[in-house]
Amino acid sequence: SLTLSKKAQAVKPSSTLAITARAKELKLQGIDVVGFGAGEPDFNTPDNINEAAIKAIHDGFTKYTPASGTIELKEAICKKFKIFNKLNYSSDQIVISNGGKHSLTNIFEAILNPGDEVIIPAPFWLSYPEIVKLADGVPVIIRADKSQNYKVTAEQIAAACTDKTKAFILNSPCNPTGMIYTKEELESIANVIIEKDIYVISDEIYEYLVYGDNEHISIGSLNEEIYKRTITCSGLSKSYSMTGWRIGYTGSSKEIAKLMGSIQSHQTSNPNSIAQKAATEALNGPQETVHIMNMEFNNRREYMMKRIDAMPYVDAITPLGAFYLFVDTTEVLKKEYKGKTIETTARLAEILIDDYNVAVVPCGDFGFDDHIRLSYAISIEQIEKGLDRIEKLLKAL
Ligand code: PLP
Repeated sequence: SLTLSKKAQAVKPSSTLAITARAKELKLQGIDVVGFGAGEPDFNTPDNINEAAIKAIHDGFTKYTPASGTIELKEAICKKFKIFNKLNYSSDQIVISNGGKHSLTNIFEAILNPGDEVIIPAPFWLSYPEIVKLADGVPVIIRADKSQNYKVTAEQIAAACTDKTKAFILNSPCNPTGMIYTKEELESIANVIIEKDIYVISDEIYEYLVYGDNEHISIGSLNEEIYKRTITCSGLSKSYSMTGWRIGYTGSSKEIAKLMGSIQSHQTSNPNSIAQKAATEALNGPQETVHIMNMEFNNRREYMMKRIDAMPYVDAITPLGAFYLFVDTTEVLKKEYKGKTIETTARLAEILIDDYNVAVVPCGDFGFDDHIRLSYAISIEQIEKGLDRIEKLLKAL
């Protein structure tokens, strides 16, 4: 019969798409919309990286590479893992894929059997539960409240473990909260992972985007026992402003890397050869642009916090990493607008886009329906204009 895959039909379409589509529509009508929705840096990819790609094309580096990536890029990743993350991986422990999202897909396909449970702390990046479900796993959500700085505790993870638990997803720095787990917190989480003998998937895609005196620590670097159970996942999208190039990678045991390599060899083959050359330059070349971008993000972060702190009915915990502000709108949702209680962040986002021309991300799909996410991956001028508009609504409530 002409029925469709139940699994595919169960994938949740992203609710943020409705706002993005509305923002586009308004822009087409010539309306000046400010978009706080961006999940990507607004900077150009640095020139040295672009030049390496252009050279790759002229040199004819435009053919298949090994399915799990070139040796040259794997070696650059190993060096970066060793120096930046204090993680020792050899090149046969690395798999390079079409972005961090693809790396995560490979990971769950390699480790899950039908019905295996994966513990995901909310608020979470909205793709995690969907990726787990597509790999026949069962997402188990635990909640990290504001009172605990949106970070789960080792006790919560232990309490969520069953005989079906296969893995825990750690995302530090976190999208959407910008929170970072400290060494002590990671140590106690690592103890639970070891005790329960499960995997930890450590998504470190925002690892370079850390502000002030805060430090990014890779959980796999803490000791040999946790290293064995960790699959470290990262990519170049956020740190090098390379979202469109699609390069992500993992560090894992050789056994898991081999499985992921086989899966990838049938599903997608190698990531783009030109993008691999560009990524090699990104990791091996000068790093000044990363610092310059970070300084700019930091300025925007400070400005956003100052403004949000001064607004009624909203507040946010200062993000320590990534480029998002996770804004608590509980009080706003109790207010009336045009004679009706606002109630949901989806409605709040609708009011903001339609009547104030600001696009924000309602966080229901991130597991937290009383918060919105504001990205500061847009210029300070845009941020100022957008926050003026949000403030205008809040003051009118
Ligand atoms: N992990 C997190 C937490 C993210 O926010 C993103 C992108 O939004 C990714 C992974 C994947 O990024 P990419 O597939 O562009 O490498």
